[in-house]
Amino acid sequence: MRVDYIVNSVFTSRTYIVSSEKTQQCVIVDVGDVEPLMEYLNNNQLKVMSLLLTHAHFDHIYGLPDLLKVYPNLPIYTNAFGVEALGNERVNMSRYHEMPINYRGDNVRVVSEGNRIPLFEEMEAICYETPGHNPSCLTFEIGDYLFTGDAFIPGVAVVTNLPKGDKALAEQSLKRIQLLASDKTVCPGHEIEGFAEI
Ligand SMILES: [Zn+2]
Repeated sequence: MRVDYIVNSVFTSRTYIVSSEKTQQCVIVDVGDVEPLMEYLNNNQLKVMSLLLTHAHFDHIYGLPDLLKVYPNLPIYTNAFGVEALGNERVNMSRYHEMPINYRGDNVRVVSEGNRIPLFEEMEAICYETPGHNPSCLTFEIGDYLFTGDAFIPGVAVVTNLPKGDKALAEQSLKRIQLLASDKTVCPGHEIEGFAEI
């Protein structure tokens, strides 16, 4: 399994590509700038199997409309609140970036705590609900990697002052993630100076 990432132009969020060199299949974690993503996929001749969302904030989903032009039926995994957020430009905050996203496709699949998403080959993503930054926050464990979104960015305080943020929940989630992360490579939702585990 190979993990790479792209640093996006909006708020330096990260898009991860988790791939199998053997089958040339991959899954994407969060989606921002689609152009460099397509370039990466083409260069590595990868077939995209699904999109996992760490949460449904604008800077982690804004590439969705363009990605869906290329992969119209791509399964998108989020939790119940994420479904609501994807469908509402106010809740996902895209309205304030003049790129409104109101997406309600049949390809959106709801997952919750403990669910396992089959990815490719024998690989799967284990889902953990890690709310606090936002109710749509999921942490995904894939092999030796932990995709934490904005629920845990090493060295950075969790942002809880956005709508539906909850400081107490964020602290609980953080403790949980730090336990999960003890033997994993952490893949946070944003580029941060001086942090480069992968
Ligand atoms: Zn966020």
